[in-house]
Amino acid sequence: MFKDYLTGGRRVAYGARVINKGGFHALPTMHMPGAFLIGCDAGTLAHTAMKSGMLAAETVFDALLEDEQGGKDLQAYAEHFKSSWLCDELYRSRNFGSALKKWGLYLGGAYNYLDQTLFGGKFPLDLQDDREDRETLKEATDCKQINYPKPDGVISFDRLSSVYLSNTSHEEDQPCHLRLQDRDIPLVINLGRYDAPEQRYCPAGVYEIIEQGEGPRLQINAQNCIHCKTCDIKDPTGNITWVTPEGGGGPNYPNM
Ligand code: SF4
Repeated sequence: MFKDYLTGGRRVAYGARVINKGGFHALPTMHMPGAFLIGCDAGTLAHTAMKSGMLAAETVFDALLEDEQGGKDLQAYAEHFKSSWLCDELYRSRNFGSALKKWGLYLGGAYNYLDQTLFGGKFPLDLQDDREDRETLKEATDCKQINYPKPDGVISFDRLSSVYLSNTSHEEDQPCHLRLQDRDIPLVINLGRYDAPEQRYCPAGVYEIIEQGEGPRLQINAQNCIHCKTCDIKDPTGNITWVTPEGGGGPNYPNM
């Protein structure tokens, strides 16, 4: 299906980012003194992200009219949010993802159909899934190995040549910004039970299991990281912490 859309195209840029799609139940407080946490960073996506930015602009405008120094806490944002269609739309779809996750495609899909068509998203039930995302990972022995075809260089490409297009160039001698709490976990748990998933989910090939004389070891090519934050969220035991690297190392997207 994707091939139909990609054939004849040209690879011009590369990037990746985890999407915060917890919806209404997972929204943080979005205002604070002098700043907002809005858009995709807060968990509103696409048109709802745009609306959260528009509400922020209106809140700042009102604050500046009232106080020329603009030193307010910006808490009026919460009221703007609650009275807008953005809150209503997010509220009506609050159970959509959780229903599919809890009850599966058919039962969850049936619930969503009834909730959305008969109740307009207002069925009096709040479904929440308190599990961390990483807790849903299956062990390697419970999964069938997928053998992906090699990139053909026409519509699919290897990760390293794609990373080049993200304009990432971290200084190689800076402290590693991908911190391991326990250096044994990558081999004992990640490799032993999950076949080292970081080798596959990292879109920049940062994590590599190298086979050596004394046995396997994990190599972290931190200079290639394109800051998607998947490893911080998806590592099976939460052993990886992403911290901010030195500034100016990309990724940079000049065409966006
Ligand atoms: S190292 Fe982590 S944050 Fe960086 S690209 Fe890979 S998965 Fe994303």
